[in-house]
Amino acid sequence: MPATTQDGDHAIENRPAPQTSKTMKAVRFHGKEDLRFEDIPEPTCGPGQVKVKPAWCGICGSDLHEYMGGPSLCPESKPHPITGETVPLTFGHEFAGVIEEVGEGVSERFRVGTRVVVAPIIYDGDCGACQDGLVNCCWKNGFVGLSGWGGGLSEHLVVPEYTLYNCPDNVPLDVAALVEPLAVGWHAVNSSPFKRTDTALVLGGGPIGLSVIQALRARGCAQIIVSEVSGMRKEFAKDFGAHVVLDPTKDDIIARCLELTNKKGVDVTFDAAGVQPGLDQAVNSLKARGTHVNIAIWEKRCSLWPNDLVFKERRYLGVATYVKADFQEVIDALSDGRLDMAHKMITKRIAMDQVREEGFLTLINDKENQVKILVEGSGEK
Ligand SMILES: [Zn+2]
Repeated sequence: MPATTQDGDHAIENRPAPQTSKTMKAVRFHGKEDLRFEDIPEPTCGPGQVKVKPAWCGICGSDLHEYMGGPSLCPESKPHPITGETVPLTFGHEFAGVIEEVGEGVSERFRVGTRVVVAPIIYDGDCGACQDGLVNCCWKNGFVGLSGWGGGLSEHLVVPEYTLYNCPDNVPLDVAALVEPLAVGWHAVNSSPFKRTDTALVLGGGPIGLSVIQALRARGCAQIIVSEVSGMRKEFAKDFGAHVVLDPTKDDIIARCLELTNKKGVDVTFDAAGVQPGLDQAVNSLKARGTHVNIAIWEKRCSLWPNDLVFKERRYLGVATYVKADFQEVIDALSDGRLDMAHKMITKRIAMDQVREEGFLTLINDKENQVKILVEGSGEK
């Protein structure tokens, strides 16, 4: 595959960054339950590349999945088709920082000292999906911080220019590190037929459920219903804008949704939980011609009864991460105040050498009380 391909009107660089003889600290994933804080070679910029010092980096559910049961997203025996890398790989794909070096041919928007957010999607730019602008569905899709090219959990990393977005002056870099998870919820709402007068049901009050709730609130959603089991997460859901919070272990979700919509059923459901009972409840809570949007990554195969869709002409829609427009829209919404609660997602801040104990293990053992743990990087704040 060529290092440079056309993406619309411009070329994209997809070559590995040159390495220097200097070393730096990084958090690298070596395999199941094997995360190391170690010294690795520091990269420098090739053409079309930018070197970034991360200021803050979030830990994501997919990082935890890799740690507990991986490598699954991370390439292990077969190198990633674009990066050519396998484990060990530097983690961290939710981050923002400051540019410290700029390669040849990079646009004027990105200079040394520019504050940036990185959209971590790696794509080839020339498959059928990329040609349609669906870089999130690229047939060779990868992620900075999961598939190679370093990650946000290191002192420095080098990324191609196409991953960068300018961070507005009024958005602090810790909040900018939330753009990535917020873009997932934003994209789900953007991809659905949602209108502001609609009633939406959101399954799950974890980080992605909360990002859907915030995206719905930013668009003035008339009624947001959330289904969540855990006590703390119910509280978070309310704080972030849910109008009604139901507990699937106590409430009859379908009956309550019908009651809350004058017997019509909800217009759209968003699944950020990925469990069988939730899927059944959500689909049957939908109105005729309602849409079920699946964001969750499922751990095992589920069953869907097609007649539940057929007789009510309901639709099932899968959505994956975000496209470029979603990323910019989230940055704009953070800057103009439509996403004014985002900073409340940050429940803990830790240093890079504490990532395993205070980050990963805390999220695994105390996920109820945590939304987003941010890791402090070497970059200016
Ligand atoms: Zn592609």
